[in-house]
Amino acid sequence: MLRLRSLGSGSTGNATLVEAGGLRKRRLLVDCGLGPKVLQSRLARAGLDLADIDAMLITHEHQDHMAHAQRIATRHGIPVWMSEGSWRASGEADYGKLLSFCADGQAIDLGDMQVTPFAVPHDAREPLQLCCSDGRHRLGVLTDLGHVPAEVTQHLAHCQVLLLECNHDLGLLGQSAYPQFLKRRIAGDRGHLSNDQAAALAAALKTGPLQHVVAAHLSRTSNRPELAAQALRKALGGKADVSVADAIEGSAWIEAQGA
Ligand SMILES: [Zn+2]
Ligand SMILES: [Zn+2]
Repeated sequence: MLRLRSLGSGSTGNATLVEAGGLRKRRLLVDCGLGPKVLQSRLARAGLDLADIDAMLITHEHQDHMAHAQRIATRHGIPVWMSEGSWRASGEADYGKLLSFCADGQAIDLGDMQVTPFAVPHDAREPLQLCCSDGRHRLGVLTDLGHVPAEVTQHLAHCQVLLLECNHDLGLLGQSAYPQFLKRRIAGDRGHLSNDQAAALAAALKTGPLQHVVAAHLSRTSNRPELAAQALRKALGGKADVSVADAIEGSAWIEAQGA
């Protein structure tokens, strides 16, 4: 069994739970942009507690992904993986023995879950995103990237479930009150994926085993859930289900089905 659940998604704070295994579960928390109280309450909605988290992987140093990682990891003794670049860029916070570095293409073995981080183009020091596998199923987490290089598409080619950034609608971003430099940064090659870019990736993956795409990291000012969902549905043509992770509510559990 392999499944994921967004606990909150977007610039206000990201955290995604990945769970693998049978009777003995392995749980990885991808990113820790939610404070302890909020994280506890979102976990409680899934019937879980911080003690149920086996490991954390922080994708990059931006606050919406890393803000509470050190405090929560050290308080609860949770092992943390991140790139050396992310750790250096975040001020080399002290995790004691809990911190391990991970790198592009180097698999992490968490017992019943194998995690493969891979590099993405984003305006951070050494940003990574990831695929997880339980040996039979595969899922991907892909947010915070300005465009989709061919290598990233290849990493995701065998995923049944994908949490995918749909940051902005280009039209709404253009009309937004953001200053020009910020609009250029967001839409740039190392910024965030638009609905159209996410849809193009979904279209490229639909010939594979893809079953469900969860739109994530939506901008509150430059996107709307129905626009992101519409773009993905059109690209997938009924091949896979589509849902949207809410900034506050996150998502339901989405399980990878079949072999
Ligand atoms: Zn982010
Ligand atoms: Zn970021």
